[in-house]
Amino acid sequence: MLNGVPARGHLTPDLFNGLTPLAWQLDDARLQDEVRTFVDYVVSSQREDGRFGPPQVEEEPYRSVVDLGRSKALEALIAYHDVTGDERVIELVRRYFVGHLATFREHDQPGWLNNTVLQENLVAGIWLYERTHDSSLRDVLLDMCHLDESQSRWPDAIREGTVAVNHGYAIAHGLKYAALRYLLEGDEADLAGTEAILEALDTEYGQIGGRYAAHECLPPEDGRAPTHGTELCDVVEHMYSLEKIFEVSGRASLGDRLEELAFNALPGAVTGDFWAHQYDQQANQVLVSRAKREFDNGPEANLYGLMPNYVCCTANMHHGWPRFVQHMWMATHDGGVVAFAYGPSEVTFGTGDGVEVTLREDTEYPFDGAITFTIEASASARFPILLRIPGWTDSDLGLSATVRVRGKVRQAESGTFVRLEETWEPGEVISLSFPIHGVTPEIRSDSSVALRRGPLYLALRVESEYVELAHYALGARDWEIRPTSPWNVTPMVHPGHPHGHVEVTDTRNPLTRLPFAARGEPIYDPITGGWAPWPHSEPVVLTMPARLVRNWRMHPVWPIAGRIPVRPELDEREVQIELVPYGSTRLRVAEFPRIDRVC
Ligand SMILES: [Zn+2]
Repeated sequence: MLNGVPARGHLTPDLFNGLTPLAWQLDDARLQDEVRTFVDYVVSSQREDGRFGPPQVEEEPYRSVVDLGRSKALEALIAYHDVTGDERVIELVRRYFVGHLATFREHDQPGWLNNTVLQENLVAGIWLYERTHDSSLRDVLLDMCHLDESQSRWPDAIREGTVAVNHGYAIAHGLKYAALRYLLEGDEADLAGTEAILEALDTEYGQIGGRYAAHECLPPEDGRAPTHGTELCDVVEHMYSLEKIFEVSGRASLGDRLEELAFNALPGAVTGDFWAHQYDQQANQVLVSRAKREFDNGPEANLYGLMPNYVCCTANMHHGWPRFVQHMWMATHDGGVVAFAYGPSEVTFGTGDGVEVTLREDTEYPFDGAITFTIEASASARFPILLRIPGWTDSDLGLSATVRVRGKVRQAESGTFVRLEETWEPGEVISLSFPIHGVTPEIRSDSSVALRRGPLYLALRVESEYVELAHYALGARDWEIRPTSPWNVTPMVHPGHPHGHVEVTDTRNPLTRLPFAARGEPIYDPITGGWAPWPHSEPVVLTMPARLVRNWRMHPVWPIAGRIPVRPELDEREVQIELVPYGSTRLRVAEFPRIDRVC
């Protein structure tokens, strides 16, 4: 496995960062063997001074990349310790901190990237400190926390466009550092600061699907334009940071943010079979081609491929789902469990009085709003269950969530947790119902509106032609994707009306083994080695009336959709369009001109 994988920088550790939780979640013996090979290698490579990995990495020009790689290796090893209890991991982390990182101020190189990624080691360092309570380790961690004091200015600097760390990948890592510092110092301002950073990114660079625009760096102007890109590495690292922040602050809104990324931005940047991905995805993505765009990245960044633009996303992308699964359920301080994010799952835990409980979650969420939890245990047991109620539920709009327990139904307040504490009997069932149907408009700007259906953003289905640009091994291809149906339409949805004031046909189709595959996209069959267009419809298809927008065309310079017209000129004829989940589209329009702005 290590043969053929670049030993340099952070790429190999990135691969194992995703592979380690995945191997145990799938209970796949072959993948577990790959991980053991990696762990054995890392342990055997540790040197006297605590450093580990191939010795030649010490010659690399960018110290920060090497230290980032080691931090990712530690996160993979911690995931391995979680499932195996291998004591070698604790000793390796300890020796790395007391031997190498204790002196980081002597060997680091100045610079914002170095400071930001060096702090990624806080994840492993705090994990170790919680086990050893070693005061000298705490001193190192505190010193590391204060490595870059400019981070406390991030909210203002993001708003002013002066943030020194304007690299999307570094920001995605850095989102969690103030929350980690709170664990060590307990300063409430750090938690408030974390929220302020997330809100500043929303305001200045916020994009559909929970991401912020950063096609390598934050765009210099008009950060919310729906043709700006976001790197896939940023999406999965952003998800991981939200998971770590929630472990500290427990705020319900973090689950909303996580689900938006997981159910929209992550699948939207990847083909339905996961064989190809984009470096930079767009909300309005009407042509995928090898051509320069207004990105910092090269002409391949918008292709779906094996390693378009650069190999980092290839190494990173697959930790999005396994880390999400790892964090869906978490333990509470008082012996219960909390549902941070929803989806079909099972969690097994021990209660304070020694009963082993499995909580099974059956659902087709995020495509459907019905969720049932079944308690499986050998005996009755008392513990709390906390269920997150997303902020997009709203009783004023007739979109209340309801919880049914022991025959009693109650409405749940949005943006909170419902706490259920009972002496649970084996076989008991809890029902949670979210109002997921139809469309809810979300005004994005003076000229644009997006449409939501619960946690999913909806996008116009654009009929597509796939052109193979390169063929690698097995299912790996590079694809150009061209539109064969008009994309310059807008649904007749009134942005100011809670349900859009439009006649919508909302069709639920059966879930398949590839829930985010697009109808008609080429899907690789590993048994036959062949390709076939995906024959199934997306799990959700909404049909509604729309009009062509005559003054909305391609951009005059770049191969992207032109700016959304503030005053759209609509064709007289009404047409029917189909909207499907953003994550099920490779070409799409997800921000539309507003019909209340028609001249
Ligand atoms: Zn990347």
